[in-house]
Amino acid sequence: MSATPPSVPPSIPAMSASVAKYLAEPKKLFIGGEWVDARAGGTLEVRNPANEELLARVAAGEAVDVDAAVAAARTAFESREWSQARPVDRERWLLKLADLLEANAQEFAELETLDNGKPLVFSAKVDLPSAVDFLRYAAGWATKIEGSTIDVSLPAFRKNEFVAYTRREPVGVVGAIIPWNFPLMMAVWKLGPALAAGCTVILKPAEDTPLTALRLAELSQQAGIPKGVINVVTGLGHVAGAALAAHPGVDKIAFTGSTAVGKLIGKAAVENMARVSLELGGKSPVIVLDDADPKSAAFGAANAIFFNSGQVCVAGSRLYVQTSKFDAVVEGVAAIAAKMRVGPGMDPLSQLGPLVSEKHLKRVSDYVRVGVRDGATLLAGGARQGDRGWYMRPTVLTGAKADARVVQEEIFGPVVVATPFDDVEEIAAIANATPYGLAASIWSNDLKRVNRLIPRIKAGTVWVNCHGLLDNALPFGGYKMSGFGREMGRSMMDLYTETKSVLMMV
Ligand code: NAD
Repeated sequence: MSATPPSVPPSIPAMSASVAKYLAEPKKLFIGGEWVDARAGGTLEVRNPANEELLARVAAGEAVDVDAAVAAARTAFESREWSQARPVDRERWLLKLADLLEANAQEFAELETLDNGKPLVFSAKVDLPSAVDFLRYAAGWATKIEGSTIDVSLPAFRKNEFVAYTRREPVGVVGAIIPWNFPLMMAVWKLGPALAAGCTVILKPAEDTPLTALRLAELSQQAGIPKGVINVVTGLGHVAGAALAAHPGVDKIAFTGSTAVGKLIGKAAVENMARVSLELGGKSPVIVLDDADPKSAAFGAANAIFFNSGQVCVAGSRLYVQTSKFDAVVEGVAAIAAKMRVGPGMDPLSQLGPLVSEKHLKRVSDYVRVGVRDGATLLAGGARQGDRGWYMRPTVLTGAKADARVVQEEIFGPVVVATPFDDVEEIAAIANATPYGLAASIWSNDLKRVNRLIPRIKAGTVWVNCHGLLDNALPFGGYKMSGFGREMGRSMMDLYTETKSVLMMV
């Protein structure tokens, strides 16, 4: 089933005057509370994926700039203003930052849409409110960091008495390296818990989407967060990112991105024994059992893969439907895909925006081509839409073999591969048969079968009758090649604190 794609509207609604003004200003590095050019003077182009036009130029930070940022973050970490700040002060700074972000939400949403391509309705209704709520949630943790008292035995010292307890202390200077799919949300997922714990941060945004991180740094100045607590170094991954990951002055690396880069970062961090958390890729299965309503399962499966044009680490990119419902569900997903309106994020009618870059569009298109070459059938989409802007039609493939690249590898685009299965007893093994283990969803109201399946699925999150929903209080992270460490919830504070044991002979 394929349909003639609607054409891209000829003109994109204009950006607001405040965003245009912001884009016209020079974009420098934010180091030690100052805006500075990259020492070597280089810049990087930032393009609008909706029309390929130049949006801004940002500084191309290099190793020498990372050195300066790490030095500033270290000075700030040791300074009285930060190291002796009370938890309640850190909470207030974060709450103030959240308030400023909320007050400027419309401008941030527009900036995110222009930079990343995602529909403005999602930037405004998902990314911004989530980022604001998350900062508030993280702020609350500043005053809830606690150790424990422990009744120790020390049998060789029976004549003595002891007091023992643990303290949680900030890990120190944090290097945070983030991807382009949810640029602002990924920035606050790192900054929130790091600052709540009392750490200082050097943030390296993705080269394709650096704009909201830079604007957030401006707000941090307005919020009065002490100089050097937040530093932003824009630049290329293999230059600025690699320098940050390998820097001996960094105590912890927090990374979200691809598994390939995550491995490089992990190795670099271990050289310095820097603490490291890695939120990496996924190939998440959507599993529909035969008692599920095909219409709502199709709707859920389409949302699971097409939200944010599939550029979501937990995207439901493998759809497994029990045989008796396979045709109904998959035809439903293909029909939704064929009708979806793909267009500029600034157009309120767009349901899918463009992919983030020309390079990424090529990567996603190549995967579809290879999938078809290797025997898969195209039920919807499969090609670029138009020739200006990096638009990809939502795509449904069937008939791919279990070891095909489109089944095994993360495509990170609006491409789902659907496969039938017969026996529920087999589906956990099928679902687990990729290197990844970030998330999965099960669609069924049969509690017995659902509850038997959940423990067998090797994934950091399992949703039932929904997909992709995150909550600040719920830990999030991956099994297997999807990384290690859990962001969100109480566990995120473990990533940014060390445990100190204290034993006193009294
Ligand atoms: P990427 O790994 O290419 O880049 C991520 C970041 O790493 C960018 O800032 C980039 O500049 C930097 N980088 C690149 N090479 C580097 C190097 N050699 N050393 C240090 N830093 C380097 O990933 P991407 O294409 O930007 O993002 C997509 C990936 O992110 C997908 O695989 C997706 O699944 C993953 N992701 C995971 C989560 C999660 O929470 N698990 C969330 C969002 C995205």
